[in-house]
Amino acid sequence: MPFDFLAWKNFLHSNMRRLLLIYTGGTIGMITNAETGALESFDFAHLYAHIPELKRFELDIQVKSFSKPMDSSEMSPIHWQQLATWISDAYEEFDGFVILHGTDTMAYTASALSFMLQGLRKPIVFTGSQLPIGIIRTDGKENLITALEIAAASDAQGAPILQEVAVYFEYALFRANRSAKVSAHQFEAFASPNYPLLAKAGVQIEWYKERLYRTHLPSLQPKLLLANEVLIWRLFPGMPISLYASALHFPDVKILILETFGAGNAFSTVAFQQLIQEFIKAGGLVLNITQCQSGAVRQGAYQTSTFFEQIGVISGADLTAEAALTKCMFALANIETSAQAHFLKSAIVGELTGAVNQ
Ligand code: ASP
Repeated sequence: MPFDFLAWKNFLHSNMRRLLLIYTGGTIGMITNAETGALESFDFAHLYAHIPELKRFELDIQVKSFSKPMDSSEMSPIHWQQLATWISDAYEEFDGFVILHGTDTMAYTASALSFMLQGLRKPIVFTGSQLPIGIIRTDGKENLITALEIAAASDAQGAPILQEVAVYFEYALFRANRSAKVSAHQFEAFASPNYPLLAKAGVQIEWYKERLYRTHLPSLQPKLLLANEVLIWRLFPGMPISLYASALHFPDVKILILETFGAGNAFSTVAFQQLIQEFIKAGGLVLNITQCQSGAVRQGAYQTSTFFEQIGVISGADLTAEAALTKCMFALANIETSAQAHFLKSAIVGELTGAVNQ
């Protein structure tokens, strides 16, 4: 029988991994307009024309874009809901998802999705770039190409290697809800100081399999609601407490996140302590996270944090600010009031260390 090339091609195609690439905006999607010289967003529907290297991948890549590409500073929970909806609607159809996103608020969106899409058994990889994709020295091409490769990676049984939300940037793969943007100008723009890399891209992609998150839920359980009655206060020496006090009223504010000093410490001025105590008495929750880039809150380790322990402030352990905020927004909309404090201190999707898994 002669070799049936068409049938072979169709067979290859049907076995190709299918990825959904979602373009939201940000620097990565910019190219220079040849006439005006200005940077503008390129049309990802013409992805292969702009990045012909992608044709060499044996991947079936479908593209979906926000109708108007956005600077990520304009992102809000409405856009997180949009992304979570697109992914949950297309979940069965695709093997993995890559989201192109501006770097500025990528860690917020990626953290939010990790809470909204629990039970995930497929990869969601966020990436972006520091230089536009249409510029010769761009970091965008490598970030995009490797993010696709990561989202397509499977084990010998065909199961995705990555089964969580992650951020890929400059050869490093981070757990999304552990990551933060740490540089406005270096190519190494992201870090996850409290959790080691999930993978490193060199000549090959080196996976650190024992660090990968695996869900215990039976299936994807999308929860799209979020509530934003949250304040974040970054403490500083000389903080004018009376100014801040005017904003802190339960139930308009339901959770106050305190970014405290070092291992969870704060000044012990009476006005500050009374304010926090009254907010908790009225029904508010207070979550204590550290302003340090790495390490964790240990309430009670110093005299300057024992007060927090006594009045029921919740220790946020080693949560990033981005994960703390999105976890609070998720908790307010999806967890019964009486269970919210327990939820905040538990590890839900690998976002904190040193707490019991829920
Ligand atoms: N301002 C841009 C954004 O976050 C920066 C970037 O994409 O890196 O959308």
